[in-house]
Amino acid sequence: MTFIDLRSDTVTKPTPAMWKAMASAEVGDDVYGEDPTINRLQDMAAEQLGHEAGLFVASGTMGNLIAVLAHCGRGDEVIMGNQAHTFVYEAGGVAALGGVHTHTIPNQADGTLQLEDIQAAIRSENVHFPMTKLVVLENTQNRCGGIALPLAYSREAADMVHGNGLALHLDGARIFNAAVYWGVPVKALTGMVDSVTFCLSKALCAPVGSVLCGSKDFIARALRIRKQLGGGMRQAGVLAAAGIVALEEMVDRLAEDHRRAAVLADGLSKLSGLVVQKKEHSTNMVFARLADEVALSDAEVVAALKTEGVLASAAGPRLLRLVTHYWIDDAAVSKTIAAFEKVLG
Ligand SMILES: *Cc1c(COP(=O)(O)O)cnc(C)c1O
Repeated sequence: MTFIDLRSDTVTKPTPAMWKAMASAEVGDDVYGEDPTINRLQDMAAEQLGHEAGLFVASGTMGNLIAVLAHCGRGDEVIMGNQAHTFVYEAGGVAALGGVHTHTIPNQADGTLQLEDIQAAIRSENVHFPMTKLVVLENTQNRCGGIALPLAYSREAADMVHGNGLALHLDGARIFNAAVYWGVPVKALTGMVDSVTFCLSKALCAPVGSVLCGSKDFIARALRIRKQLGGGMRQAGVLAAAGIVALEEMVDRLAEDHRRAAVLADGLSKLSGLVVQKKEHSTNMVFARLADEVALSDAEVVAALKTEGVLASAAGPRLLRLVTHYWIDDAAVSKTIAAFEKVLG
């Protein structure tokens, strides 16, 4: 059976153009800085995101970890949302590998951190306290619904963080979804932060990798940390080649994923067994809660959907997450709605 796989946009396989680019990629030893395809990808990414330099890394998790380690020393503190990917899903890497102390504040329903909450979390000078060095924002905010954070908010947050002498890192795993949502060049959302990561391997369809961007100095520090973490790869231009296709060909079409997610949300919201979380500024994700009268558990619904050829993920108690991407067409959306109708009766 070929499944309609809505568990995540990470399941996307390379496009035909990517396979072709990978097969003919010019490569070299990237630890020597000699892989022309990686160098080109890094330059392209930095240029698009409005930064001086870029660094190809194995994953978004590695990019965020390197960024936190480059901004903070042992015992320093980083402020981030309690729904931040870096807090919830990155295996505590900043603490385990960097000795960095995480101070969480609540993510609002719209994915933002309130500026007053950030301000209140910043430590004053006192021998008892860790020293605050960094704030992390996430755009789109995954656990709040794949929500695109507004431009005005991004600018205000950066001004506020910089006004306090701190650095701002943006976990922009899906920043291109946010840029397409707002209809702006991505640098409008990323140019004002000190560092930013984005994933090539999610909605942009590349098989592997993320890029971390920042100033030349920052990337020089990041390069050493990447080496420490074992992330210095050699002829990885075969991977970067797909990343270049991702940046050249896969960004504008993200609007289709957003349109299909809206159609899916709309169709599912007509079913009495589901309460679809309709949120402003959502992009390619649909979150739906099982209504109280549904006797099945989330795991049972996921299993039943699978027998109908649809893969969804359980994102919390009685909460399902569905993510649209390149390999989900209009027919797949209709079939998914029909599968839910059958499973939930
Ligand atoms: C997926 C994701 C990451 C991490 O990316 P990996 O490549 O899976 O390590 C980081 N932040 C957010 C918001 C993500 O959704």
